[in-house]
Amino acid sequence: MKEKIAIIGGGLSGSLLAICLAKRGFQVEVYERRGDIRKGQAAAGRSINLALSTRGIEALKKVGLAEKVLQDAIPMTGRMMHSVKGELNYQPYGKSGQYINSVSRSGLNIKLLELADEYDNVKLFFNHKCVDVDLNINTAVLENDKGEKITVEASIMFGSDGAFSAIRSEMQKTNRFNYSQNYENYGYKELEILPLKDGVFQIEKNALHIWPRGEFMMIALPNPDGSFTCTLFLAYDGEKSFSNLKTKVDVTAFFENYFPDAMAMMPNYLEDFFNNPTGSLTTIRCNPWVYKKFALIGDAAHAIIPFYGQGMNCSFEDVSELDEIIETYYPDWTTVLQKYQEARIINANAIADLACKNFVEMRDLVGQPAFMHFKKVEQELSETYPDVYRSQYSLVSFSTTPYSYALAQGYKNEALIQYIIEHKLEDKIKDANVMMPLFRDFLGEVTI
Ligand SMILES: Cc1cc2nc3c(=O)[nH]c(=O)nc-3n(C[C@H](O)[C@H](O)[C@H](O)COP(=O)(O)OP(=O)(O)OC[C@H]3O[C@@H](n4cnc5c(N)ncnc54)[C@H](O)[C@@H]3O)c2cc1C
Repeated sequence: MKEKIAIIGGGLSGSLLAICLAKRGFQVEVYERRGDIRKGQAAAGRSINLALSTRGIEALKKVGLAEKVLQDAIPMTGRMMHSVKGELNYQPYGKSGQYINSVSRSGLNIKLLELADEYDNVKLFFNHKCVDVDLNINTAVLENDKGEKITVEASIMFGSDGAFSAIRSEMQKTNRFNYSQNYENYGYKELEILPLKDGVFQIEKNALHIWPRGEFMMIALPNPDGSFTCTLFLAYDGEKSFSNLKTKVDVTAFFENYFPDAMAMMPNYLEDFFNNPTGSLTTIRCNPWVYKKFALIGDAAHAIIPFYGQGMNCSFEDVSELDEIIETYYPDWTTVLQKYQEARIINANAIADLACKNFVEMRDLVGQPAFMHFKKVEQELSETYPDVYRSQYSLVSFSTTPYSYALAQGYKNEALIQYIIEHKLEDKIKDANVMMPLFRDFLGEVTI
C-alpha cells in the first residue's frame, strides 16, 4: 500500500479526489465537517442543482461514474429567455446534440461518497471539522461533533474544504502568499417553480430559463420531479435590491412587475423568499496553491461566481489533471504538486474572468436584440464551419480546451462577428470564399 493522504473536505472535489487516489492505491482519509449527506444531512443554503458539462463529465468518466450521474440528469440544450411580457426567446447553447446537464448537488455528492466508500483503502470521517493545521509538520487538527480533537498526520494533505477553506487560511500566513477576495454587491435566493399535479413540467423541461432584467435576473434549472429550482440574483443595496424587499407587499409587487409569468407557477414564493437564506457571491483567487506537502483544490483554491456554471466543472478538472500528473511524476510529490499548480492556476483565473463577464451577459445582454442578433450570427458560423469556428461558450462547456484559450479565443470571435455585422456580411456566411479570409484575419491560421 502506498503512503497516507488526507483530504480535508468531503464535498464534490474532495470525494472525487478520494476515488482517484484510492484507485492509485494510496491510503486515503477524508475529513468532512458536516454529517454524512447519505443519511439525509444535506447542507442548507447551497444551490440545489448544478449544471454539469463536458469537463466535469470527462472527470467522472475516468472513475466510471459519468453514466450513473447522467442517468438522473436533465439535458438543457439552450437558454430560454422570458421577457416581462412573458414572450419567450430560445438561444441554443451549441450545435444540435450539445447540451449541459442539470444535476442534483446532493445526489452527485452522494454518488461520489458511495463510490469512495467502496474502496477498502478509503476512510471517511464525518462531523470532523478541521480547526488547525501545521503546514511544517504535515498535521491537521480535527474536532468532532462531541468537541473532541484529534491530530492526524499524512504524507500529503489536500484542502478541498471549499471557498472559506481552513487550509488556505493557514497558507495565507505564509510568506509571499497572494490572495484576493471580491464580493459582488449581489446576493442570491433560491425559490421554486412547482410541477403540475402529475409531475409535468410547467415550462420547457430541456432548457435553462432566464428572466433577464438588466440589473438583476432570475434563472431556473429543471429537476427530475417536474419542479424547477429558481435562483434570484439581486443587488444587496440600491433601488432594486434585497434591502428594498422587506415586506410581503414589497416582494409581491416586485414579482408582479418583473416576473409575472413565473410568479403564477410559484405558489410558495413568498414563504421561500422570507425563509430561504440569501447567499453571497464571491471570487477568490490565490497563488500559490501549494505549500510544502499541502495543496488546495476545488473552491478552496478558486471560488468563482456561478454565471458560467463552471465552479464544479473546473474543480473536477483540477482533480482529473492532478491525477494525470501523479501518473507521470509520482513518487516525486514536489514535482507533482508544482506541475499541478502550474497547470491549473492560469485556467482557474481565466474561468473566474469568464464567469464575471457572463454575469453581465446573462442578466442584461441576453434580452437585448443586438445581442440576440450576435448570437444568431455566431450560431450560423458554428453550424456552417464546425471545424473552424468554435464559440467561447462551446469551448468552455463542450470541450476540455484550457479555459485560458477559451478566454483569449472569445475576444477574437467577438471581433470577427462585430466585423461581419458592421459590414453587413450576414448573408455571405455560407460563402466560404468570403469567410475563410476573415477567419484567417481574425482567428489566426485555419484549415479548410
Ligand atoms: C448558487 C451557486 C450555483 C452554482 N452553480 C454551479 C453550476 O451550475 N455548475 C458548476 O459547475 N458549479 C456551480 N457552482 C459552484 C460549485 O458549487 C462549486 O464550485 C463546488 O461546490 C466546489 O466543490 P468543492 O468540493 O471544491 O467545494 P464545496 O462544495 O464547498 O465542498 C467543500 C466541503 O468541505 C467541507 N468543509 C468546509 N470547511 C471544512 C473544515 N474546516 N473541515 C472539514 N470540512 C470542511 C464542507 O462541509 C464541504 O462539504 C455553483 C455555486 C453556487 C454558490
